[in-house]
Amino acid sequence: MKEFFSPELIKKTASQKSLRDYSYINIGGKPKYLFTPETIEQLQNIIAAANKTSLDILPIGGCSNLLFGNNINKAIISDVNLPQIFDIKDDTVMVSCNITIKKFIEKTKQAGLSSLYFLSGIPAHLGGTVHMNAGAFDRTISEFLVWIEVVDKNGNIKKVNAEEIDFSYRKISISDFIVRICFKLEKKSEKEIEDEIKEVLKIRHERHPYDFPSLGSTFKNPPGEFAGLLICDCGLAGKMIGGAQISSKHSNFILNVDNATFNDYYDLIDLARSEVKNKFDIDLELENKIIDDLEEQK
Ligand SMILES: Cc1cc2nc3c(=O)[nH]c(=O)nc-3n(C[C@H](O)[C@H](O)[C@H](O)COP(=O)(O)OP(=O)(O)OC[C@H]3O[C@@H](n4cnc5c(N)ncnc54)[C@H](O)[C@@H]3O)c2cc1C
Repeated sequence: MKEFFSPELIKKTASQKSLRDYSYINIGGKPKYLFTPETIEQLQNIIAAANKTSLDILPIGGCSNLLFGNNINKAIISDVNLPQIFDIKDDTVMVSCNITIKKFIEKTKQAGLSSLYFLSGIPAHLGGTVHMNAGAFDRTISEFLVWIEVVDKNGNIKKVNAEEIDFSYRKISISDFIVRICFKLEKKSEKEIEDEIKEVLKIRHERHPYDFPSLGSTFKNPPGEFAGLLICDCGLAGKMIGGAQISSKHSNFILNVDNATFNDYYDLIDLARSEVKNKFDIDLELENKIIDDLEEQK
């Protein structure tokens, strides 16, 4: 493997772009290292070299669950320029990590396969969705998984069968960069598939705010509780800080309504967390991930 991430090459290979351009909520500063590899070999080299220099890596996909700050020294590696793969054989589908949920649902529907309809309306990529074990309406993506292919810390490609992975609430036991995913889906008529997608989109638009960008559910639901209801019961629905707002439609969503900054968004997270702790003695756990070295050290 050739050395791609040597210190001399960092300046040439790391993009100068801001994470704001990748963020689904348009928030984020310039990280020290941002990579957009175009081949799997480049990706392998970046990961292996980052590991050798003890630099943490952070894969990013649709960035629909990530709040980026201004102090980021990790090697951020985006999937956007990797080759796209979409291969359907009977009821088995093999895809690259950078396929969007929208495209996946649409193309599998055309092939008569019912798939991730419960994730309709989520602006995510498949790699990020598998990493988060995304779910809704009592279903999770893990139910359809056959295997994933990852690039491990040493830059080697490894296949991991679904049975070897522990899946829990918005979490899986593998932290490596997922490059390819194989799903086994269910054959259904096009009408049935269309109906299940329509139903999910209808419920989402009734319950969730779609007027402004958000990162979906900010907090995980505590056992037996709904984070949104707890926040709402603290009187925080509609609360604004700077350009960020706790949605008045669903209090577990924080919206970027007017050029919100990282601090606006973060201060609302902090406020919701401390008010719920004071009123109900419940510790809310973040579902969104905060990517900022200073905040992560707290
Ligand atoms: C309107 C809206 C509705 C939403 N509804 C839901 C919902 O119903 N259910 C739900 O579960 N989530 C929901 N979300 C949250 C979000 O879409 C999910 O968490 C999704 O899984 C994130 O995917 P992503 O591609 O955007 O990942 P990112 O936000 O880019 O990354 C999320 C995590 O995945 C990791 N990651 C990304 N790509 C890879 C890869 N290739 N290999 C390894 N790790 C990777 C990142 O390092 C990070 O830890 C919603 C978000 C929005 C904006």
